[in-house]
Amino acid sequence: MQSRPAAERREELVALYREASGCLRCPLHESRNRVVFGNGNADADLMFIGEGPGQQEDVQGLPFVGRAGKLLDQLLEEIGLSRPDVFVANVVKCRPPGNRDPEQHEIDSCRPYLHRQIELIEPKLICTLGKFAMQVVTRSTRGITAVHGKPEVHELGSRTVRVYPVFHPAAALRSTKTLDDLRAAFARVPALLAEPPPVPIGAVAQVAPVPVPEPDPPQMGLFG
Ligand code: URA
Repeated sequence: MQSRPAAERREELVALYREASGCLRCPLHESRNRVVFGNGNADADLMFIGEGPGQQEDVQGLPFVGRAGKLLDQLLEEIGLSRPDVFVANVVKCRPPGNRDPEQHEIDSCRPYLHRQIELIEPKLICTLGKFAMQVVTRSTRGITAVHGKPEVHELGSRTVRVYPVFHPAAALRSTKTLDDLRAAFARVPALLAEPPPVPIGAVAQVAPVPVPEPDPPQMGLFG
């Protein structure tokens, strides 16, 4: 897939951020303090997608700034990365009141922002954090335990991307076993980033054309 210049994509991402900052597409705008668009490297190879802003994110306008965010920072550091290397976003950009799960119409209203972010950032790998983000991004109803740490390929926006579902850091704060599993999944990230881009789903494999035999030269016959 031909990539557009990073500076051009970054400029469009900034325009999208400005647009989202005044978003009135769903009722979540009524109770939010700040739109949490996401932040990080606009040309990141690795993108994280969480569920939606919590209380501290809503106040600061930034994703994953609470305890779960601190754990995300630590796990990144363990694989030699930091926040400025990656882009962190959420399925919904505004905090659902009382931290309830986002509703379907809220997810649908916000999906175009998420898809546009993916198209502009062009990540090599999208790591979904937790069951909710995995279900929305992969449009499935599977449980997170069945898919944690197993990369899959999906069409998101106009891109074919490798999606890597893992447990949510908030869940890892509550269980040592989940933390161990999450850490093991993070350890595989560098190798996944080094893989060649996935082939678009439904793409026809490039097969060498079968040579068509030349027709026999016309025979000189009766009518020469
Ligand atoms: N949990 C999320 O899913 N997203 C945030 O931004 C913070 C906590």
